[in-house]
Amino acid sequence: MPIDATQPYDDDNIFAKILRGEIPSKKVYEDEHALAFHDINPQAPTHILVIPKGRYVSWDDFTAKADDAEIAAFIRAVGKVARDAGLVEPGYRLLANIGPDSHQEVAHLHVHIFAGRKLGPMLAQ
Ligand code: 5GP
Repeated sequence: MPIDATQPYDDDNIFAKILRGEIPSKKVYEDEHALAFHDINPQAPTHILVIPKGRYVSWDDFTAKADDAEIAAFIRAVGKVARDAGLVEPGYRLLANIGPDSHQEVAHLHVHIFAGRKLGPMLAQ
């Protein structure tokens, strides 16, 4: 069910529960500002989600409200996760869904990292 990214942050979302350790995840990376873990329903051989630790609904919410240190740390974390997974040379794709038309389902900002095969056209036809 797609979410409305204009709504306030809901602490009951599934990624908030992962951050609090209430439900398990297959962790790839963690630092002060970010957590990365494998997607539960991978769409490519490598499908990692990177999330900020702060309470942000979407990329829009994050870029409007997060401070510069959080934004810099999060973007660097996304790059590091992909680099450490050896994805730079073969290539990878980043995706962040925002709101209903993109089909964002989890109301906590997440960047998808897809890799491990030819990823095809940028958007599904
Ligand atoms: P969205 O459509 O919001 O961009 O992507 C949400 C992603 O979260 C989906 O790829 C979905 O498989 C993943 N996901 C949903 N629930 C869980 C969960 O409990 N654990 C993990 N690791 N991934 C989840």
